[in-house]
Amino acid sequence: MKFRKIVNCLVSILFLLGSKIFGQTDFQKQRMEMVQDQIINRGIYHKATLEAMREVPRHLFVPQPLRGLAYRDQPLSIGKGQTISQPYIVAFMTAAIKPDETMKVLEIGTGSGYQAAVLAQIVDTVYTIEIVEALGKRAAQKIAALGYDNVVSKIGDGYQGWREHAPFDAILVTAAPEQIPPPLLGQLAEGGRMVIPVGPAFLAQELTLVHKKKGRIKKRRLLPVRFVPFKRN
Ligand code: SAH
Repeated sequence: MKFRKIVNCLVSILFLLGSKIFGQTDFQKQRMEMVQDQIINRGIYHKATLEAMREVPRHLFVPQPLRGLAYRDQPLSIGKGQTISQPYIVAFMTAAIKPDETMKVLEIGTGSGYQAAVLAQIVDTVYTIEIVEALGKRAAQKIAALGYDNVVSKIGDGYQGWREHAPFDAILVTAAPEQIPPPLLGQLAEGGRMVIPVGPAFLAQELTLVHKKKGRIKKRRLLPVRFVPFKRN
């Protein structure tokens, strides 16, 4: 009797371990396919971006019931009316700032923390600001639990940027204002790039690339997009 119990117990443990390991490989497989089908096949070849997208466990940044959808070609709800962007958009924005290991990057709109983790994989330091306290706190915990020690986060209105740490080599904004906030332009370093969706809430927004060259601002439209609105406190 006792022996049977022990065997049963061992079988359950093995089963649990197995599903954990195989579950992980399954997510990993889905992640590799996501990078190939949704990102490389659509023309993004920036090496560090592709490596980061292969590395960061996106399924851990989405709410538990949606994990099975984490590697699909779509944005997902993360609660509080906010979303984690479609993987392609995360890769596109990351590649657009031409990130490298020397850079200090500011992100506005931490959300789930996924974009911050992707950047943290590549650059020196990520500063990230979230206006919704519950989201910002949850993301900061997740990022720390996954071992990223180069992400500095705070709760607040990103409109003002983060003066104490400026200038930034790049700024990535993941909510759409109608106009580019002037303080963010001011906090962009010489030679720096900012990628930001600009336009009315949920309507025709343009993902815009801003490049500061010899103190002058150059803007280029990259892609029509639909982001959640940029809020003000
Ligand atoms: N980068 C996120 C996407 C989040 S969606 C991710 O990878 O999951 C955009 C986020 O911007 C939302 O969480 C929203 O609350 C936040 N946001 C909107 N306006 C903001 C503002 N003024 N300052 C900081 N965050 C803002």
